[in-house]
Amino acid sequence: MVSWGQADNVSNDQKNILVIGGSVAGLGVGLTLSADGHRVTILESDPSPMPESHAEAFETWERKGAPQVWHSHALLGKLHKLIKERAPGLLDELLARGAEELPFADMARRMIENPTFEPEDEEIVLLACRRITFEWVLRRHVLDTGLVDFKDGVAVTGLAATKDSTTGLPLVTGVRLKERDGTERTLEADLIVDASGRRSKLKHWLTEIGARPILEESEPCGIFYTSRFYRLHEGAEPPMLEGPIVGEDLGYMKAGLFPGDDRVFSLTLAVSPDDAVMRSVLHQPGFEAAAAAVPRVAGWVSPETSAPISKIHAMTNLRNTRRQFVVDGEPVALGVLAVGDAAIHANPITGRGCTLAWMGAAMLADALQKIPNDLRALALEIDTQIEEHIIPWYQMQVQQDRDGIETERALQRGEDPFQVTKADGSTDPKAFMRSVIREGLMPAMRSDIVVLRRFMRFGNLLDPPGDLMRDPDLLQRILAVYNTRSEREPLLQGPTRSEMVDILQSLAA
Ligand SMILES: Cc1cc2nc3c(=O)[nH]c(=O)nc-3n(C[C@H](O)[C@H](O)[C@H](O)COP(=O)(O)OP(=O)(O)OC[C@H]3O[C@@H](n4cnc5c(N)ncnc54)[C@H](O)[C@@H]3O)c2cc1C
Repeated sequence: MVSWGQADNVSNDQKNILVIGGSVAGLGVGLTLSADGHRVTILESDPSPMPESHAEAFETWERKGAPQVWHSHALLGKLHKLIKERAPGLLDELLARGAEELPFADMARRMIENPTFEPEDEEIVLLACRRITFEWVLRRHVLDTGLVDFKDGVAVTGLAATKDSTTGLPLVTGVRLKERDGTERTLEADLIVDASGRRSKLKHWLTEIGARPILEESEPCGIFYTSRFYRLHEGAEPPMLEGPIVGEDLGYMKAGLFPGDDRVFSLTLAVSPDDAVMRSVLHQPGFEAAAAAVPRVAGWVSPETSAPISKIHAMTNLRNTRRQFVVDGEPVALGVLAVGDAAIHANPITGRGCTLAWMGAAMLADALQKIPNDLRALALEIDTQIEEHIIPWYQMQVQQDRDGIETERALQRGEDPFQVTKADGSTDPKAFMRSVIREGLMPAMRSDIVVLRRFMRFGNLLDPPGDLMRDPDLLQRILAVYNTRSEREPLLQGPTRSEMVDILQSLAA
């Protein structure tokens, strides 16, 4: 395998490739395709120049086009694996800038007495790194290869196209763009890759060139994000982390604490946009009071341990969205493909976006190697790969969020969504499953290495998507723990909704 960033396998099928968007997906595509000998130009609409260091990036980088850089990010095991295999130099640079590897073995030793390991466990390594640091180091790495032309302050405004003589489909031949001084022009290319993120305008640009409409499905995730960054005091020892992150799902609120680089960590509180009381976490008093009320978070954010180094950032209108550019078995246009969030994005809570973006970049590189000279076949191949490797993750998230919204609404109505036995004596299957996850799966992950391993491999996208709760061996292990729930103290997660309402309303008073 050739490492990304080394153009030693230049093929005879060199293409001119334009990438729209210079963030995680666009840079991943730039790295892979330039390594395969293609001439890649990345067009990034944000005009702000690259800061001198990742520390300066946190202070001053204006990334209006990617506002999620100011929110907590988990960088999963599959992404770590892709970087290690394909861009080892990038991994070294990330570690040199203070990012940390979080191996499964360390976590398992903290959670389970005398765990036994399998060779495959070495694959499960997450990266503790701020999203802004990750992007800064990635862009620096891509620029340093000298193989990619990166233009910032250049916004793509549409497509240039002709008609493909064989298929009759619109054939994209370039992009229309606006430079930072307002100059408008057209840039030609053999292939356009849209990596312009969740707010991509590609579907409108395609309509403008006469393409058939794409298929788009989109629905709310049921939460919005508030995040704040903190730095640990010199010499301060934070409370022990069991897993790579703290993740508390209180039903009405999700609290996630993510270690980053340089002794920085971030805390995200995610709540429903419909929950008027919980919305007070948007403001400092509400955010701080809610954080202090969640036991596994409180010790981290206490003034003895750390100090906040950012304001509270908010990101709303989070949706699960899938865009399909092959409709009824035929691409809507040739010469243009979408990767990363521009194609599919989902609830960020499971931390999959950057990993799926890089999987998309790898798929594109592999497909282009296999099919260098047939744009229709290339579009169909990418569609097949996305369907097989990315859509199952997306669909699982959609189902999970629908259930999360139901749970949250029930709590707001004062009902118990974990009440397994209904008034008529029958069993509520959804409540049963929620209860098994909370009182079976969660404790089983703290006592059974097999359960922990399988769920960590799955959560880190190292195993294919699927419903682990349907695996008979796993289910048996989880149910065995569930059936002993009355013999142990319930896991201490945090206040009930009505307790949290009291906390937040007392602030308002
Ligand atoms: C709140 C939040 C939290 C998240 N947490 C995680 C996490 O824990 N782990 C994880 O892996 N992922 C997470 N994600 C997802 C992750 O951030 C994205 O999947 C990732 O940034 C890859 O996105 P991308 O490169 O496709 O798009 P983006 O990062 O959104 O980048 C798009 C780029 O295109 C540029 N652009 C837009 N329009 C144009 C144009 N017309 N011309 C030129 N350039 C343009 C933008 O300026 C931007 O730089 C989170 C997302 C959100 C919203």
